[in-house]
Amino acid sequence: MQSIIVIGAGLSGIAAATDLHAAGHAVTVLEKSRGISGRSATRRWEGAVLDHGAPFFTARGERFTTLIQALEEAGAVRVWTKGFHQWRDGALTAPSDSHPRYIASDGMNALAKHLRGTSATFTLEVGATVTGLEPSESGWTVTLATGETRKADAVIVSAPTPQALNLTRPHLEPVTLAALERVTWQPCWALLAQLRAHPKVDWRGVKLTHPVLEWASLEHTKRESSPALVLHANPAWSAAHLERTAEEIAPLMQAAALEVFGSDLEITQAVAHRWRYARADTLHPAPMLEQGSLIFCGDWCETDGYGTRVENAVQSGWAAASSLLGR
Ligand SMILES: Cc1cc2nc3c(=O)[nH]c(=O)nc-3n(C[C@H](O)[C@H](O)[C@H](O)COP(=O)(O)OP(=O)(O)OC[C@H]3O[C@@H](n4cnc5c(N)ncnc54)[C@H](O)[C@@H]3O)c2cc1C
Repeated sequence: MQSIIVIGAGLSGIAAATDLHAAGHAVTVLEKSRGISGRSATRRWEGAVLDHGAPFFTARGERFTTLIQALEEAGAVRVWTKGFHQWRDGALTAPSDSHPRYIASDGMNALAKHLRGTSATFTLEVGATVTGLEPSESGWTVTLATGETRKADAVIVSAPTPQALNLTRPHLEPVTLAALERVTWQPCWALLAQLRAHPKVDWRGVKLTHPVLEWASLEHTKRESSPALVLHANPAWSAAHLERTAEEIAPLMQAAALEVFGSDLEITQAVAHRWRYARADTLHPAPMLEQGSLIFCGDWCETDGYGTRVENAVQSGWAAASSLLGR
């Protein structure tokens, strides 16, 4: 049995930890936030339930599809829609595909909990920010923001690459450093909005080609919630406005929504959320990256040709676990 620390309780970290624990290893997951699930995120706000990170997910690979089918049978996930409207140059067109888009029934942040399962499981510490790691005789010593340390034979870092580099840079071989530095990221400003009433529209989610917005979803069409809207700004606009405050961003995105949707949607209050590393646009061309007992995983690793999604975060975590188990 090995002791393994996983840094980050997003879907990749939880997937890795679950497999390693199932194989009999002593696993501890350290997560800096108060909750788990990372960018598969949900905020509850005055009766509204809003998925402000990944709004939905798809299932293509065999193992992931089997898992999702089991969760669907248990009622933990379900199909939200089978296609999205498109908005371009003022015109809204209906979906043409029929591919299922899933959501977690209780909010997208429940996905990590479902992945972890309910049986006796690994140790999870939340509010545990890792500030660095050092090699030790038998593995690694991980330091937390509190000054406490944890020792492990192996460490899996599941954070986006800029955050992973902050933790590990002094200990990386040139090839590992180059691989992590090659991955690039797009930011995303999200707007979480309360609506005055249930809008009389026939769409659930819309993909937009617009100078500001790229996505709109009516969150109350997913589950029990007061009328609520999530908007995502496109990568170029998000990058151009990245260092502005959430208070400055909210009215700008609200104005864009008014321009697109007019009086169909009446926003009563809104808050903006910045995802500095929303999605990778240059991916690492393998399911994970390893340097001895230090392993990196996450949705920035290519697993299935689709990339930077819920499914490939999970697949990358499984690949990281499988690499340790195969030794
Ligand atoms: C706006 C947006 C829209 C998206 N749309 C879709 C979509 O439509 N479909 C889809 O499938 N996917 C979508 N995604 C992508 C999906 O959310 C991600 O692919 C997936 O959640 C990534 O999981 P992960 O485990 O790789 O990373 P993360 O979720 O980022 O997990 C990393 C974890 O590490 C933690 N961490 C970081 N540093 C430290 C530290 N020093 N110490 C301790 N913990 C640390 C973080 O807090 C985080 O919980 C979207 C994401 C965003 C942001």
